[in-house]
Amino acid sequence: MTTGASIVVRGGRVLQGDDLVDADVLIEDGIITAIGAFDAPEGVAVEDATGLIVLPGMIDPHVHVGWPGAADDFATGSRAAIAGGVTTFIEFAVQFPGERLEDVVQTWKDWGARSACDFALHAIVSDSTPATLEAMGRVVEAGVTSFKMFMTSQHSGGLGVDDGTLFEIMQRVAELGGLSMAHCENDEVIGHLAEKLIADGVVTSAGHSAARPPLVEAEAIARAVRLADAAGSAFYIPHLSSGDGLQAALLDTGRRVPVIAETCPQFLALTADVYSRPDGAHYVMSPPIKSAQDQVELWEGIMDGRLSTVGSDHCPYPRDFKDENAHTDFRRIPNGVPGVETLLPVMFTLGVRSGRLTIGDLARICSLNPARIFGLDDRKGSVSLGKDGDLVLFDPDRRFGTAPSDLNSDIDYSIYEDLELWGMPVATIASGSVVAREQRIVDDAHRGRFLARTPGVVLDDFDRRVVRA
Ligand SMILES: [Zn+2]
Repeated sequence: MTTGASIVVRGGRVLQGDDLVDADVLIEDGIITAIGAFDAPEGVAVEDATGLIVLPGMIDPHVHVGWPGAADDFATGSRAAIAGGVTTFIEFAVQFPGERLEDVVQTWKDWGARSACDFALHAIVSDSTPATLEAMGRVVEAGVTSFKMFMTSQHSGGLGVDDGTLFEIMQRVAELGGLSMAHCENDEVIGHLAEKLIADGVVTSAGHSAARPPLVEAEAIARAVRLADAAGSAFYIPHLSSGDGLQAALLDTGRRVPVIAETCPQFLALTADVYSRPDGAHYVMSPPIKSAQDQVELWEGIMDGRLSTVGSDHCPYPRDFKDENAHTDFRRIPNGVPGVETLLPVMFTLGVRSGRLTIGDLARICSLNPARIFGLDDRKGSVSLGKDGDLVLFDPDRRFGTAPSDLNSDIDYSIYEDLELWGMPVATIASGSVVAREQRIVDDAHRGRFLARTPGVVLDDFDRRVVRA
């Protein structure tokens, strides 16, 4: 079965491990079949990559393109991804209270037929009824092997679970050989702080930030890690936002299970000062962006490998929806920011260009690690023979446009407009097809595939210290 196109990428510097190697790349029927010097088959399209770096397609392990009320759906969110050099993302199928878990996963898979990039799914589980625990087995068989629970209800549409439910679901995940994830913040402390702030007249986005100090994240992470360990479930912490949270994640308690942590580009690029801006509501997300000191500690975590991945947590809302309650009650501002489209340029500008990371480190953090952690590394994660022909032809010396008009995401504001971002995906190739050029989609017909995963991924031999100290 042919699953992709054929193309020769000629004259680029191809990332191989930590090295950039002068080489051509041959993709046949969507699969990389030659790297180096080779005789190209007759009639295959040739893409000139002279002067460009050839990177593996980026993998964003954390997006929301089906969340009710959010701006982007699979169609627009995946176009934003591809335009920014992300050729694979992992979306969350959400079980709202009372819904059947397997129905939800099927619905999300069906929506994914509109995706321009390849996608996998995590499942968000909101109860531990016998029916749901049983359905989790069928969901794993359907290729969805990671399960996220919310420890908070405040912003999640009532998805929060209590600790008993969380523990029971983690036990079931352990039984299935899957990966547990949790949104780690202490719901009750947030509620208490928020009520007090509102009573004191702090109603704007500054209150959102003040109600969610690092403590609420660190406490919940420590609790969740203990529960995951007791349940015997490998555990992944999405969107880790604070230095205290990082400390809590990696406290050595003699635990038996792997604990893996992700941070987000917005935590590495911005500080809590944004919440004092007139448009502070546009930056409201949970957990919120923390202090400059937290940012320093998160970069240290990225550089020494304690943080393994960067996920965008892409979940933008239209400006009107963001602004509606911006000056009356911060608890009613929808939570989420755009990010999938700017993931690569943010990490390149602030990571590689600033000297914190090598280009090899960037590809590990934004492609190889998520591929390995989430069981996609037989197909994705590096420019290697036999892997999918997903490439980014990258010009490090060109500016990446951050104005809303430059971006493909379906929103009318940008959170990086004040930041100078560098690094242009001159061409994004997915399964052997050039789908985007210079931030514009050039192949509207291209569709990605659902990537079924198998449990018992390479977590056991996953080396958390993936970046040189
Ligand atoms: Zn999220």
